[in-house]
Amino acid sequence: VKAIRLDKWLANAGMGTRTEVKKAIRAARIEVNGAVAKDPGQHVVPGKDDVTWDGESISYQMYVYFLMYKPQGVLSATEDLRDPVVTDLLEPEDAHFDVFPVGRLDKDAEGLLILTNDGQLAHRLLSPKHHVPKRYLVHVEGRLGPEDVAEITKGITLEDGYQALPGDLTILESGRTSVGEIVIYEGKYHQVKRMFGVLGKPVIFLKRLEMGPISLDETLQPGEYRAMTEGEIASLK
Ligand code: URA
Repeated sequence: VKAIRLDKWLANAGMGTRTEVKKAIRAARIEVNGAVAKDPGQHVVPGKDDVTWDGESISYQMYVYFLMYKPQGVLSATEDLRDPVVTDLLEPEDAHFDVFPVGRLDKDAEGLLILTNDGQLAHRLLSPKHHVPKRYLVHVEGRLGPEDVAEITKGITLEDGYQALPGDLTILESGRTSVGEIVIYEGKYHQVKRMFGVLGKPVIFLKRLEMGPISLDETLQPGEYRAMTEGEIASLK
């Protein structure tokens, strides 16, 4: 665990904004391991150093886990010069946690995006070894039929020669445009779009519904997010 600034530690512990906690430090209300803290830039080790505010111990929440309904038009990134990014959607009190999106969803795609500052968890979810299933609702041009299900079940060879792992396709509506649910067990760049591209049925709408054990919360509007429940966090570990 790496040491962080005391003012950041206090803000992460939910004690107030950086400005508010600096004020408390200047007012000599904060002690670290029994000594009055004088410098907001003093470093403390989360989970190790004992921090008190007016004599009361403060417990530190090191990691946060958010479940977001990413809207279309927003990048799954933490910074971009041109486009809005998902971390712009965080409330001010959550903005200092240094969370990042776990995996990518295209700018024109919407749906479930997990945001966390827990790098190990992100790594586990994204590692190609683990084959974490991702479920998408997809609208495509053209009529989906049993031959498309068969191709996806067999594993599609993408346009660059990459042999995709077998996926699962359920057809929900079939017509001039079609609707389906697809589950894939890896996450190559633009994978779902490329798979349907090979089938000659371009994707016109893409929404992620699930990632591993986590489902999109349908009570969220696009752009909204909430903290994951204890149960959801436990299911990821
Ligand atoms: N597949 C895609 O093509 N795009 C995404 O955003 C996710 C999966």
